[in-house]
Amino acid sequence: MSQLPGIGKRTALRLVLHLLKQPKEQTGFLSQALLNMREDIKFCENCHNISDTKVCEICANSIRNHHLICVVEDIRDVMAIENTGQYKGIYHVLGGKISPIEGVGPSQLNISSLVEKVKLGKVIEIIFALSSTIEGDTTNFYIYKQIAESEIVISTIARGISVGDELEYADEVTLGRSILHRVPFEKTFKNN
Ligand SMILES: [Zn+2]
Repeated sequence: MSQLPGIGKRTALRLVLHLLKQPKEQTGFLSQALLNMREDIKFCENCHNISDTKVCEICANSIRNHHLICVVEDIRDVMAIENTGQYKGIYHVLGGKISPIEGVGPSQLNISSLVEKVKLGKVIEIIFALSSTIEGDTTNFYIYKQIAESEIVISTIARGISVGDELEYADEVTLGRSILHRVPFEKTFKNN
């Protein structure tokens, strides 16, 4: 239990004691649910979002703009942006950020499939929506370099959110606005 993120030893102990007090079948349900989750959950073959079908609900929705792709770190960001109700494009979930300190390189992330989509001419605009940390900026720039030659629009969400804030913690109104008022990505580094 204490291996889980955000669970310290004390909380782990509390959870274990709670589970021990439950009827056996209750813990059986929980164990089975965890197993099912691992077995049944797939990742969308188009955007790498979590899904129980080959293609996720967002990618399968023909009303959404499939030429507009919002690049996010993980599925929590998809949920946060979906909650704003302001975004009608689709997503590309990287599965993390480039972080030399944590040993995460570009090849461990879903970057090549994004570059591939751009090369196939399927994309009109890419919006970077990674958190504005050094890792987020590094990742944006790495992807930018791979696709800068293409004709597409490359933008980044406007930052009403202060530096270092994680996307999932931004309030819905601010996040919704920052997507609507996105800025050209080049402006964020060329003026410096
Ligand atoms: Zn998808």
